[in-house]
Amino acid sequence: MDVDPPREETPKVPKRHDFLWFPDGNVVLATDASLFKVHKSLLAVHSSVFRDMFELPNVGHAGVVPGRDDAGLASEAYEGVPMVTLVGDKGEDVAHLLRAVFEPNTKYDFNTVRKNVILHISRNYPKTLREYDALYGYNSPMFGKRRTECHFPLLAAAVTAEVDVLLPSLFLACSELDINEIIRQSQSITLETLRILIDGRERLAYVKVEIVDTLSQQLRTMDANGECQNEVPCLQDACFIDIQDFVISSLGDIVGEQVVRYYLSPVCKGCGSFMARMVDEERKGKWDDMPSHFDSEFAFTDWKELKAKLKAILES
Ligand SMILES: [Zn+2]
Repeated sequence: MDVDPPREETPKVPKRHDFLWFPDGNVVLATDASLFKVHKSLLAVHSSVFRDMFELPNVGHAGVVPGRDDAGLASEAYEGVPMVTLVGDKGEDVAHLLRAVFEPNTKYDFNTVRKNVILHISRNYPKTLREYDALYGYNSPMFGKRRTECHFPLLAAAVTAEVDVLLPSLFLACSELDINEIIRQSQSITLETLRILIDGRERLAYVKVEIVDTLSQQLRTMDANGECQNEVPCLQDACFIDIQDFVISSLGDIVGEQVVRYYLSPVCKGCGSFMARMVDEERKGKWDDMPSHFDSEFAFTDWKELKAKLKAILES
């Protein structure tokens, strides 16, 4: 790429761009066709191309840039503001990049690609308990891989790209893997991400035990709403047993019917279905706070807040 030569006989004069001309901008970028008056700091944040460009000693200041053939640019001043001239293909690339930064809804928009990826991933990871239960134990491949092989790479990518709306579901999926599997796959995530994951996994262990613990404290005083088939209400003498298993169980296994079958001492059918409903209700309440257990800097308090943000992203 050549430095733009002096153009004494250049007939074509670039015109100010209709939209990308901010009166308070502090740099003018010139391509063959257009002039863009924009903000250096905003461009530098969005693009390493611009960041590197503005770090060159003479760029963004009046004057030429000697010997910068590879950069495809030259620097001078336009109405008192530093001007960078971008020539040939480089100019066209930069024009596209500028539109992506300042015009979020154009076809050049990286944001559209990002939204599609977010949508696709979010559909594969649950945000409601109903979706979670439907996907639980579902082993068909995702993105051409085993589902359990996708959680960590996607978590690493979501953390890097700061896609906070995907984090709770991805953290949850990773946290439900066997601890040996977590260690095996942990090399793909940062130490801080691993800390949040393990911390959240421990918090969830408490939450899972709490689902039944709360009920066991009220058990003897509970009334199965007249559904008990025995003269002396079953729940007066009932108790939960072996609930320490819940610490390493997935939420998908702690559902009312299974808890009553495997962890409640024998009761009649009426009391059994009453208790199953109570367990499911507790479980639903615990699900609602799930995002708050993965305490990253982007933590959400609940799914409602997360879903509102996801909606806003997809509609932006
Ligand atoms: Zn009963």
